[in-house]
Amino acid sequence: MAPPARKTRKSAARHVYGFAPGKARGGARDKDLLGGKGANLAEMCKLGLPVPPGFTISTEVCAYFYAHGRRYPRGLEAEVRAALRDVERCVGKRFGDAEDPLLVSVRSGARASMPGMMDTVLNLGLNERTVQGLARRSGSPRFAWDAYRRFVQMYADVVLGVESEEGADFDPFQGALEERKRARGVRTDPELTAEDWQALVATFKDIVLRHTGRPFPEDPEEQLWGAIGAVFGSWENERAIAYRRMNDIPSSWGTAVSVVAMVFGNLGPRSGTGVAFTRDPATGEKRFYGEFLMNAQGEDVVAGLRTPEPIELLAEREPGAWKELQRIQARLERHFRDMQDLEFTIEDGRLWMLQCRNGKRTGFAAVRVAVDLVKERRITPEEALLRVDPEALNQLLQPIFAPAELARARADGQRLTRALAAGPGAAAGEIVFSAERAQERAKAARVVLVRIETSPEDIRGMQAACGILTARGGMTSHAALVARQMGRVCVAGAGELEIDYRERRLRIGERVLREGEAISLDGSTGEVFAGAIPTRPSEVLAVLAGKETAGPVYRAYAQILAWADRFRVLGVRANADQGDQAELAVLFGAEGIGLCRTEHMFFEGQKIDAMREMILADGPEERERALAKLLPLQRADFAEIFRAMGARPVTIRSLDPPLHEFLPHEEHEISFLAREMGVSFDRLKAKVESLKELNPMLGHRGCRLGISYPEITRMQARAIFEAACDVARDTGKKPRPEIMIPLVATPAELALQTAEVRAVAAAVQAERGLTIPHLVGTMIELPRAALVAGAIAREAEFFSFGTNDLTQTTFGISRDDGAKFVPLYVEREIFEADPFARLDRAGAGRLMRMACEEGLAARAGLKLGICGEHGGDPSSIEFCHELGLDYVSCSPFRVPIARLAAAQAALRAGERPRRRAK
Ligand code: PEP
Ligand code: MG
Repeated sequence: MAPPARKTRKSAARHVYGFAPGKARGGARDKDLLGGKGANLAEMCKLGLPVPPGFTISTEVCAYFYAHGRRYPRGLEAEVRAALRDVERCVGKRFGDAEDPLLVSVRSGARASMPGMMDTVLNLGLNERTVQGLARRSGSPRFAWDAYRRFVQMYADVVLGVESEEGADFDPFQGALEERKRARGVRTDPELTAEDWQALVATFKDIVLRHTGRPFPEDPEEQLWGAIGAVFGSWENERAIAYRRMNDIPSSWGTAVSVVAMVFGNLGPRSGTGVAFTRDPATGEKRFYGEFLMNAQGEDVVAGLRTPEPIELLAEREPGAWKELQRIQARLERHFRDMQDLEFTIEDGRLWMLQCRNGKRTGFAAVRVAVDLVKERRITPEEALLRVDPEALNQLLQPIFAPAELARARADGQRLTRALAAGPGAAAGEIVFSAERAQERAKAARVVLVRIETSPEDIRGMQAACGILTARGGMTSHAALVARQMGRVCVAGAGELEIDYRERRLRIGERVLREGEAISLDGSTGEVFAGAIPTRPSEVLAVLAGKETAGPVYRAYAQILAWADRFRVLGVRANADQGDQAELAVLFGAEGIGLCRTEHMFFEGQKIDAMREMILADGPEERERALAKLLPLQRADFAEIFRAMGARPVTIRSLDPPLHEFLPHEEHEISFLAREMGVSFDRLKAKVESLKELNPMLGHRGCRLGISYPEITRMQARAIFEAACDVARDTGKKPRPEIMIPLVATPAELALQTAEVRAVAAAVQAERGLTIPHLVGTMIELPRAALVAGAIAREAEFFSFGTNDLTQTTFGISRDDGAKFVPLYVEREIFEADPFARLDRAGAGRLMRMACEEGLAARAGLKLGICGEHGGDPSSIEFCHELGLDYVSCSPFRVPIARLAAAQAALRAGERPRRRAK
């Protein structure tokens, strides 16, 4: 066996890393340098597994390529030549040899896997001479000419850009192939003969000449460098850039290029190709799972061109290869200590491993596999926690179809077909037939993207859709893979579907559905239904609510979060304004409420009328009258929340938004209210006009309201303390309110408001003869508040960072208008991420750090939390951990995500489990 490539010159940096069974330079640890594919090919070689020999050109070359106007570093050519000689020696064939040619594949492979986003070229090294040699050696001219036409087609597309010139909808090669089949009176590719393929090669080359003005390259060396350049070039193609953005992959990583000796899965009936997972990638269940196609090349499976067979059938077709595959899959999972995704080829009965990597999986599978691996003693709970992307928990909380509704849909004959259950969950929405349409319609409705098959170009549409349905392709087709990763519901390979893009309709048997009509997908059973079937909460939610007994999904969920709670230091609270939200938050594990926005309570029934009366009152007396109507309503709201939360802390914020948000704007509303209040229409309309503001976000809102109208703060404080006393009396558990004053900029503002709250608190407790443990604090949501935090902390018993407003005021970007240009800023990399979604550590974060330090210096034991949207974002949570906050607060559905993210932050910071502050 030939050794891998050696350094060409002692002093030169190495760019090329060779591998062959039993030997390799580099290994699984070198993903940064060799990309995931190159690193794992090397690792499999070192394990002595059957891997075709090859070499990997490092990601450093990619960086050089882009930094130097698409040129290569000096010495690369010689290194590639030497590495190619090693491969030749290893397989006993020569590149470009007319008798017995070595053919290679040229593959991309970045540090993080980006399925289907970059380019690959197969069968490289064929020309008019070598194809003859391949025909003789393989004994099958048909195979050789088919391989050649595949190569010309792929090379023309990937390297010469022929297809894209024609536009995405018409592929000239496919057109020529269909034409040939028509002329020969056959329907399928296998019916074509060697002569047909040979004729098609000539036609394909004509197409290339017509489109590029140059003949198709005959020289294998030229072909190789063309392919290497194209694969490096594909790092910057549109879909790769889009994918990186969605998955937070830095463009600086670059891709490696692996050049690997070809093995053929289409050499005859004892050849085949397949993809497999060591566990079920949809559910995480421990069972070898995958699919294969006999007499096919790998691209046929991945592109979903033919629907493959379940892997178990391989045991009958090729028992020897099956047995070896079993042995290898178990070995690889043990070695990598994680679920693996494998690509293999069988050439004339002999198994070759082409790739292995940690398998992409659904959120369900991510949690279940991690938990199971701990039980199997392969990994520790700490590792399990770090392996699950917190966002993956989202999927476990996704709705499913209500069983009764599903049964009814089946009985009513709504079921259209059943295909592969490729991405679990339930989705119902409008049919759209293109990715563009999906993006457009998704702004107004839930959409289901229906495609014959998906390609990486569809990725943005897939992101916008709630479900994806394809007519072709298996569990490992592009649609299935990407949908699972995005957490989208997906049904794939629905072969009965006839999709007509031009007419924008699908036909299935007698039924026709058009764009805009409703369709429902069950991604767990693979069923497709006409119409929108109502959905219901997930198994996790049903178990939490005591409506179902625990199944495997719930058990894995509960276990991972139990571990998370052991390791996290941050507390997790929820933002909730109503009793039912508070109950849900507790079910999800919230340890308190971090923000109750009292204004949300005013938007229903009688409350809005009383609120409007209060706002429009002339003078304190009228206002007090209106407030007296509001008091019992607020008290009842608070009591409901206190009951749900028991002895957990509940942060209630005094009124915050600009008053005109509550006012009637339509004439008929104003006249109704005027009658109610016994005032004239004109007077009321004038009052409404006078309350309008040019820039309400920076206007009469927050504590400024409570300072202008202290009776509002007093009413709210009374409602809080009376409700707390009522609940304490009724339940025996004392609520723990934390009253929070918003939009404070100066200590004096806060002092005025805390004095009001404390006076009412003292009065109510004295009236009721009860003490209610409570705190009075403030939000830090203006830069000035952060800058004078020391002085503010002398008045405040806690700070809660309102990072929505803090981001708005630090950047000077309106939260309501930023969406017009922030996405552009992210696209142009002016912002690393949307600062309203992920905390801007350098700006708003720096203000937070100052506020924490100065606040704690002024008041030991000052409680610190966050209640802006960032409290549910894993990256921001990590920062909050670094700052040493006591808790984060987020929407109820994000509480599990925050628990896991908080544990990850603690583990990454190297902390051991300890008791959390409350
Ligand atoms: C904030 O500003 O971060 C906050 C929580 O308050 P709101 O979103 O209600 O302004
Ligand atoms: Mg705010």
